[in-house]
Amino acid sequence: MTEKNTTESSSFKETAGFIHNYIYKDLDGELNKIHTRFPPEPNGYLHIGHAKSICLNFGLAQMYNGKCNLRFDDTNPAKEGQEYVNAIINDIKWLGFNWEDRLYFASNYFDKFYECAVTLIKKGKAFVCDLTAEEIKEYRGTLKEPGKNSPYRERSIEENLELFEKMKNGEFPDGSKTLRAKINMASSNINMRDPVIYRIAKLTHHNTQDKWCIYPMYDYAHPLEDAFEGITHSICTMEFEEHRPLYEWVINELEFVNKPRQIEFAKLKLTNTIMGKRYIKQLVENNEVDGWDDPRLVTISGLRRRGYTPESIRMFCEKIGISKSDSVVDSALLEFCAREDLKIRSKAVMAVLDPIKVVITNYPENQTEKLTLENNPENEDMGTREITFSREIYIEREDFMEDAPKKFFRLTPGKEVRLKGAYFIKCNEVIKDENGNILELHCTYDPETKSGSGFTGRKVKGTIHWVSCKDSINCKVMLYDYLVFDDPNSENGFRKNPDSIKVMDNAYIESNIKNAKIEDRFQFIRNGYFTLDTKNTTEENLVFNRIVPLKSSYK
Ligand code: ATP
Ligand code: MG
Repeated sequence: MTEKNTTESSSFKETAGFIHNYIYKDLDGELNKIHTRFPPEPNGYLHIGHAKSICLNFGLAQMYNGKCNLRFDDTNPAKEGQEYVNAIINDIKWLGFNWEDRLYFASNYFDKFYECAVTLIKKGKAFVCDLTAEEIKEYRGTLKEPGKNSPYRERSIEENLELFEKMKNGEFPDGSKTLRAKINMASSNINMRDPVIYRIAKLTHHNTQDKWCIYPMYDYAHPLEDAFEGITHSICTMEFEEHRPLYEWVINELEFVNKPRQIEFAKLKLTNTIMGKRYIKQLVENNEVDGWDDPRLVTISGLRRRGYTPESIRMFCEKIGISKSDSVVDSALLEFCAREDLKIRSKAVMAVLDPIKVVITNYPENQTEKLTLENNPENEDMGTREITFSREIYIEREDFMEDAPKKFFRLTPGKEVRLKGAYFIKCNEVIKDENGNILELHCTYDPETKSGSGFTGRKVKGTIHWVSCKDSINCKVMLYDYLVFDDPNSENGFRKNPDSIKVMDNAYIESNIKNAKIEDRFQFIRNGYFTLDTKNTTEENLVFNRIVPLKSSYK
């Protein structure tokens, strides 16, 4: 066996076992190093499903001391563009992967694709066909019935060469001719029934502009791209399994010495999410979301804006593993990974999302004091910070109840509760307007009960968070829920969630937040993990996104 790096993590190795078996076998034979690629089509932004493929391809290369290329599969100018190229590059870098100088574009191979097609024609393995798209479909046959040969199948090599060149030179209108591989119209695999390998489309390409008016089809171009780059393992999703014979046909007919091996794995599916660039694009174009980076989307840019870290996404991709059978992953697992990562790195702060004012009537009017709180109870290295206590504070509206049931351990008239890091307070009076809405609560505090003072006189069951009215900042907080819920009874398999955003536009946060950097993550005590929204935050107006709530429903 050839020398191999065996530092791979065990869980990944177990779940991707079938891929490792191929790689072991190949490395045992003639192969020295593995070489993979991630081949996005720049027709949209990347999503969490792509992250699975990125982690797999770049991860295998790292694990076996090989290489992974980034290659744009940009052979369909109708849907592709530079904005997507830039976004994809940015997202993969952010995820933490590096292709060094190996950034490739299928469009840079257009000359070579053309030459290969000429070679096929010369070998009698490709022909120019005049059937329309509809006729081609008719001739193709079905799963039960073989197809019929195209009447143009027996054109001479010379005629094919001439017509193909004319196609290239723009002498025929779109759709009037195709170049087809000459394989077998009776094949039990429909993909092998003389598939189209070139089509005419007079479109401007984002890279080659108007140089080409014929474009290669995916099934023809992809194996060639892999072969040109010396890819050893071409890892793709299950829908290409049936195309593998065609992949191999192209490689064999063009007599490549190093033959890449195609390996398929199952796509990631996630509960309660819209995946697939096509669908996400629709939401973006219909303004149903705030761009490709809407924090409710599972695009990489959406997850980033929401506050997910690259580490948490990589952790998720490792946990879900790789297999050949379709399964749907619970979205709660993604949230679990976010929490695992955030609980170590985020700073605790107090923020009141839906404030109600509390006046501590026995606290001197102009007095304030500094209290010291831990920045992260799970990570002492993160130190402490000071917050201000004063006569007027805000607490969460839902932490007060006037006619509370017995089990309500927060603030209620006549009972004591602890203010986090501060004192016990007791509510004596509820001040209301003429309509009965609560305006403020009048409480008293007990100076003996200061947190950290060693007071043991009596206990309270509840601790609530608060901020000082004097020393807090008004801000906006966005709470997110799933955009859609799975619904097998609906037309498209899901139903929209009408309450996917909740805006808390009068929240207050402790003033320590002034020192925050845009990339910081916070635990708002009792409310979840949050980060600043990069799109809407300004010097004057802070906007926070909730990344995830504190509690998980995941088992
Ligand atoms: P989409 O349907 O979202 O457009 P795609 O497969 O058409 O996905 P590509 O840009 O062609 O998108 O994909 C680049 C790579 O990412 C391919 O190798 C593809 O198989 C892989 N990929 C796409 N979606 C998923 C997914 N849900 N899970 C795992 N891999 C995926
Ligand atoms: Mg695609």
